[in-house]
Amino acid sequence: MNDPMNRRECLMRFGLSGLTVGLGSVTATPLLAQNPGESTGFESSVIASHKVQANSAGATLVDGRVIQPARELPILDETDVLIVGGGPAGIVAAIAAKRSGARVTLVERYGHFGGLWTGGLVLLVIGHIVGGKKQVCQGIGEEIMRRLDKMDGAIIDRKPGSKPTVDAEAVKYLMVEMIEEAGIRVFLHCWGVGAIVTGNVVRGAVFESKSGRQAILAKVVIDATGDGDVFAAAGARFEHRSHNVGLVSRIGNLDRVDAAKAANTPKPKHLGLRTPVAGVNWVNMHGPEVDALDVVTLTRMEMNHRKFIWQSIQKTRGTPGYERVYLVETAPQLGVRITRVLDGVNAVRLADLRAHTKFPDVIGMGGEEGGDHGEWQIPYGALVPTKVDNVLAAGRCICAERSMADLVRLIPNCFVTGHAAGVAAAVAVQERCLPRDVDVAKVQKVLRQQDAYLG
Ligand SMILES: Cc1cc2nc3c(=O)[nH]c(=O)nc-3n(C[C@H](O)[C@H](O)[C@H](O)COP(=O)(O)OP(=O)(O)OC[C@H]3O[C@@H](n4cnc5c(N)ncnc54)[C@H](O)[C@@H]3O)c2cc1C
Repeated sequence: MNDPMNRRECLMRFGLSGLTVGLGSVTATPLLAQNPGESTGFESSVIASHKVQANSAGATLVDGRVIQPARELPILDETDVLIVGGGPAGIVAAIAAKRSGARVTLVERYGHFGGLWTGGLVLLVIGHIVGGKKQVCQGIGEEIMRRLDKMDGAIIDRKPGSKPTVDAEAVKYLMVEMIEEAGIRVFLHCWGVGAIVTGNVVRGAVFESKSGRQAILAKVVIDATGDGDVFAAAGARFEHRSHNVGLVSRIGNLDRVDAAKAANTPKPKHLGLRTPVAGVNWVNMHGPEVDALDVVTLTRMEMNHRKFIWQSIQKTRGTPGYERVYLVETAPQLGVRITRVLDGVNAVRLADLRAHTKFPDVIGMGGEEGGDHGEWQIPYGALVPTKVDNVLAAGRCICAERSMADLVRLIPNCFVTGHAAGVAAAVAVQERCLPRDVDVAKVQKVLRQQDAYLG
């Protein structure tokens, strides 16, 4: 009779020692010597014993108040253009700034790129067309989409007027590939928690990570956090908005529904839309209108939505014919649509869309799902704060009227504003001027060279 080896025996017999990638040798003094006979096949070493974290936060309790003393922060990096947030806007901004000749550092709080597009499982890329089928999102955003076209299983329905839908893992993979190709310096697992400001000029940002609190200095900063975390920390004015907060999920086995059994029963709700993975749909969620800057609310949303999704799938499974449908995953990231919106020197306005206003500082064109109206221009001023200098907004937090925010925040429109912010920041660095004073004609020229469409 065969005696199958368990995992531990297998590792010991074949002497496997785990996968070691890219690590140099580490000199260590173990506190407790490991018995060689106790090897599990994995390896661990002591990097430094009896260590005290040099940059620990060290808050103290004084008369019932928590006080954090001033302290010097280690400088993690110095760069030309610092982009905080690696969502659709941040990724495109980083690539654009690098292609425009700047040294670029991109920082992201999670372990992957794509923002709501991947971590939020918002897989449908709408908002890139006008007048029915004319595509207005071009440039680096369109390059991303074309590259997804060439990847097996990465995107479906990629025609203007249909519903281009991606696979989140394909996007995450492609983002890494494009960031590496561009030669952009990246810090993941690094949360922007403050701005470095001299007077009203932003000089960089402060980050929190497992390495403690560190600073990155930059000539220009782009806030692509979606929530305006950096411009708010720098003292820029913004509008604090509430919007619907949902949680997107993916469900599977929709190709195994027993049609004969299901024929006489009403179709269950929340079956979603198809994705590049056969039998798997993504299920959008509207959610209630709440303040997504409030941590108590965010916690409640996560817990309520999670319960709702699980219970909803149980109902679906209780429907004749749908017994094999299952929950593949809930999005790792809550579906936050809008929080802070920059108070910019100009704004994206509905009246301008209706009047087909042409801005001398146009930096991109916006579209929508049906594309039933004409092109609407996005002025550079919508990216520039009224008050604070040396920081630009990109993506869903740029200055837009409430009536336009739902168009501005669509993924292709975030590509467009990210592209413009990246080029403008790089031009400001080259011209040694503030982004507010940049030569917009030059920004427009570089954008066109990078295949952006400005009307
Ligand atoms: C439920 C839902 C459904 C939607 N449906 C669609 C749709 O069908 N089609 C469509 O086109 N759009 C849709 N959208 C809108 C679209 O997904 C977003 O507006 C778009 O992804 C915004 O891109 P962004 O880069 O501005 O921000 P985000 O995608 O939010 O990316 C911001 C990035 O910054 C990072 N970040 C945030 N704060 C910090 C910090 N302090 N430090 C470091 N990193 C930080 C985040 O982790 C994230 O990676 C939907 C949105 C939601 C919530």
